[in-house]
Amino acid sequence: MPEGDHSAFGELNMKLDTEVLIIGGGILGTSVARELSRYRVDTTLVEREVDFGWGSTKASATVVCQGGDCLEFRKEYRNSRFVWDSIPLMEPLCRELDVPFKRIGSLSLIRNNNELVKYQKMKNLADKYLPDLEPHQWIDRDTLRRIEPHLTRDVIGALYDPKPAVTDPVRLSIALAENARENGTNIMLGTEVVSISRGTDSFEVQTTEGLIRTRFIVNAAGVYVDKIAAMVDADEFVVYPVKAWIGVLDKKVGDIIRHVVTARPSRPGELIFVNPTVHGNIFFGIPLQLNKRGDYSSTRRMSQAGFATIRSLVPDVSEKDIINSFAGYIMYRNYELGWHECVVAASRKIPRFINFCIGFPGVSAAPAASKEVIRLLSSEGLQTVEKESFKASGRAIPDFSEASDEEKKKLIQKDSRYGHVVCRCETVTEGEIVEAIKRGATTMDGVKYRTRAGMGRCQGGFCSPRVARILARELNVPEEQVTKKGKTSRLLLYKSKELLEGAVNEPA
Ligand SMILES: Cc1cc2nc3c(=O)[nH]c(=O)nc-3n(C[C@H](O)[C@H](O)[C@H](O)COP(=O)(O)OP(=O)(O)OC[C@H]3O[C@@H](n4cnc5c(N)ncnc54)[C@H](O)[C@@H]3O)c2cc1C
Repeated sequence: MPEGDHSAFGELNMKLDTEVLIIGGGILGTSVARELSRYRVDTTLVEREVDFGWGSTKASATVVCQGGDCLEFRKEYRNSRFVWDSIPLMEPLCRELDVPFKRIGSLSLIRNNNELVKYQKMKNLADKYLPDLEPHQWIDRDTLRRIEPHLTRDVIGALYDPKPAVTDPVRLSIALAENARENGTNIMLGTEVVSISRGTDSFEVQTTEGLIRTRFIVNAAGVYVDKIAAMVDADEFVVYPVKAWIGVLDKKVGDIIRHVVTARPSRPGELIFVNPTVHGNIFFGIPLQLNKRGDYSSTRRMSQAGFATIRSLVPDVSEKDIINSFAGYIMYRNYELGWHECVVAASRKIPRFINFCIGFPGVSAAPAASKEVIRLLSSEGLQTVEKESFKASGRAIPDFSEASDEEKKKLIQKDSRYGHVVCRCETVTEGEIVEAIKRGATTMDGVKYRTRAGMGRCQGGFCSPRVARILARELNVPEEQVTKKGKTSRLLLYKSKELLEGAVNEPA
């Protein structure tokens, strides 16, 4: 089949032939898709959600670890290697795809001599394995107070690593997928894999949208990676879902912390953190808990623990500054030991089947790890001939709030809808929302993650009805069909007078 030409697959239960099938459109699946689109390979990516990065990727604290900032990194762990090898790749990748990336550095707080000894080990490791990078520095209490004036004074100093950065992992996933699509990858959103059967030299993959026959499979299904592997008996690994929670502070206190700040409560492996995001909010998290997957609730107890955490690090914060919170899952290989390892391997039992899962920090490790997946595919027999036509660069949706006056004027001259602010908290214009829809956003969340409309102080209280109206207009559907995140998440159940007229049944 010619590159990207899968139009015949519109009808349910038709069969699609592809050479490589990637399952999952999170940061790992989209990274592989983009990497593979450099080659003359017929690739299809299926994602069960209607957009990219809505699994663990959207729950990320957005930190690009730079290898020497994690106490749990070890030279013998492939996970650590992928993070280290991604260091020279991540910033150029973000630049190429026009995704925000900001180097802010990290501070590991030291509260006693035991912690000092631990961090000495971390420094030694970084000095040994990352000798070409700017080294860590010890910071005393006075210097710490100068560079982070709002931090707790209950510390004796910190280990400063200048390298860690922040990015926007969902925008990066979207940009990777858009670029892969431009280079010929077939992308099927809203398509869930339900079963896989194995023939002699191919797999038959049953999805909610029809059957796909493929020679190779890359299983990047995140939290469900073991379930997908089990469909063909390729689950030769164990992963434990660990629930993590993140609180979000309003931009108005966005300068209260300038670095990624981490501290360690008493239990081994536990970590609490606070960090700024590329968009000017502050994220903070609490220690993790083993949990059964599928429970994304953010409870009052978690908020209380989260608030206690951030107050222990930044005492000036008020509860009123918290504007949102969310939870996600990290797939640990070994909970007792920490987040040490990943699964980036061809199945030992099932040929041409690659399992690809990085619990933490998958965003940071994605660039190098996805190159390893290409190597694994090739050693399983995939021909990888480079395409001359590969286009590496992508272009972000114009960001009106960040534009200079001159740029704003030009945008409005080109399209007057850039002069109409729809989301007042984040200064997002109708022009940006329309552009997001043109590029593939079909839901409120799709618009939100591409433009930030609804991510401000009022959390969409003001702009949601306006965004819904624009979505309905641009997609040419009734407003009642607009959803928050696809499937059954409709925003409006009926028009207000329809109930009085008895025109609708009571919603279930
Ligand atoms: C709270 C939290 C904070 C974190 N902070 C950081 C950080 O600061 N830095 C960092 O580098 N990492 C961080 N991580 C880790 C990082 O987010 C993950 O390692 C990474 O997102 C994993 O990406 P993924 O593509 O494997 O998974 P996902 O993003 O979950 O993607 C998997 C995709 O597969 C799809 N899927 C599942 N089953 C099926 C099916 N049957 N059919 C079709 N599609 C399917 C899902 O819908 C999903 O979109 C954090 C994680 C959490 C939870």
